[in-house]
Amino acid sequence: MSKGNRYDAAVIGAGVFGAWTAWHLARRGKRVLLADAYGPGNARASSAGESRIIRMGYGADELYTRWAVMSLARWKEFFAAAGERLFYGTGVLWLAGKDDSRVRHAAEVFARCGVVFEELSTKELEKRYPQIGLQGIMKGLLELHSGVLMARRAVAAVAEDAQRLGVEYRVAQIAEPRGAGAISAVTTNSGERIKADAFVFACGAWLAKLFPEILGARIFPSRQEVFFFGVPPGDTRFAPPALPTWLFQEDEIYGMPDLESRGLKIAVDRHGERVDPDTQSRLASAEGAEEARRFVEQRFPALRGAPIVETRVCQYENTWNGDFLIDRHPEMENVWFVGGGSGHGFKHGPTVGEYVTARILDGADGEKRFSLASKETVQKRAVF
Ligand SMILES: Cc1cc2nc3c(=O)[nH]c(=O)nc-3n(C[C@H](O)[C@H](O)[C@H](O)COP(=O)(O)OP(=O)(O)OC[C@H]3O[C@@H](n4cnc5c(N)ncnc54)[C@H](O)[C@@H]3O)c2cc1C
Repeated sequence: MSKGNRYDAAVIGAGVFGAWTAWHLARRGKRVLLADAYGPGNARASSAGESRIIRMGYGADELYTRWAVMSLARWKEFFAAAGERLFYGTGVLWLAGKDDSRVRHAAEVFARCGVVFEELSTKELEKRYPQIGLQGIMKGLLELHSGVLMARRAVAAVAEDAQRLGVEYRVAQIAEPRGAGAISAVTTNSGERIKADAFVFACGAWLAKLFPEILGARIFPSRQEVFFFGVPPGDTRFAPPALPTWLFQEDEIYGMPDLESRGLKIAVDRHGERVDPDTQSRLASAEGAEEARRFVEQRFPALRGAPIVETRVCQYENTWNGDFLIDRHPEMENVWFVGGGSGHGFKHGPTVGEYVTARILDGADGEKRFSLASKETVQKRAVF
């Protein structure tokens, strides 16, 4: 029987989670609408950055390591099929201070999950990375095959490929759905009704605005600033293969080598103030720039005085502890929340999309850690 203008699924939000969900649903032969208020990987979205790390390390947290391993394979397959170079295998270097428990645990998980890595002593670090200021660093752990996804362009590529698979895409803002049980339609801001069997709200930080009663206190959008420092002319020490992507949790700062000539990327992982994703200023602050400068002087002494050549301001969409939120609406059984990427979600896009698809189409069991019931209203970050 024809379903007329009714979709099997409407996916609202074309960030990395929504784009991959629409893609997987279409691959399963479903008729899918993908709607976004501003566009796939738009400048206000969390998925909009130039680049995102894909690392396997989550300390002792094996669930996300396994998901990252699956996702890296999927991203690579996808880019190979699309003929796009949107992954750079820079390697990801974890740096540990006195407390090296996180890298020790990560190494144990890597051994179980088949992640290829190398452990590096301070001596080896000094020899290999003379451009890094290693004060306070006692150990390194290098993920050899991990690296960087070119985020904004990768999301655009997934949304485009989803359309090739039959997904209908449109620019539209969807209002908060109302009703109980299985709802039949949602409404755009121009009053048009969109009918579907299932509705997936993959709205990043907007989930808190769109569902204020349920998620207003459970999604914590935080302002995050990113800086790119210009490298000296003709100097290759800050580009791969000389410099990998690196993280030093004690500094709460991480960065990437000079990719596609954008400069050395420095980002602060500490949560900034609560922001509204529609209206927050996208101009980086003087204090943020000063902090990034101080950090660069300390960790990359040869870049003392280097100019900031580009900045970005984005928001994390944190849950209380950093676990994703992937669950049904408590009253509307065919309405799904997909979000809570919490500053680490991008890499997992392909696996999130596959997981959501299996939950909707196959009634697959849900992971407890992603449930709405597990989401508290006080922040206590546990997933890094
Ligand atoms: C600075 C920064 C650095 C990060 N670094 C990393 C990293 O290195 N590695 C990593 O894995 N992750 C990283 N992350 C996290 C990752 O980028 C996010 O978790 C991920 O992009 C979230 O994707 P999303 O699809 O849930 O949300 P978004 O990308 O925000 O997409 C949500 C979409 O929903 C749309 N929308 C909202 N409301 C509506 C509505 N009512 N109707 C229609 N459309 C709507 C929006 O326009 C938007 O396009 C980082 C995030 C930031 C901000």
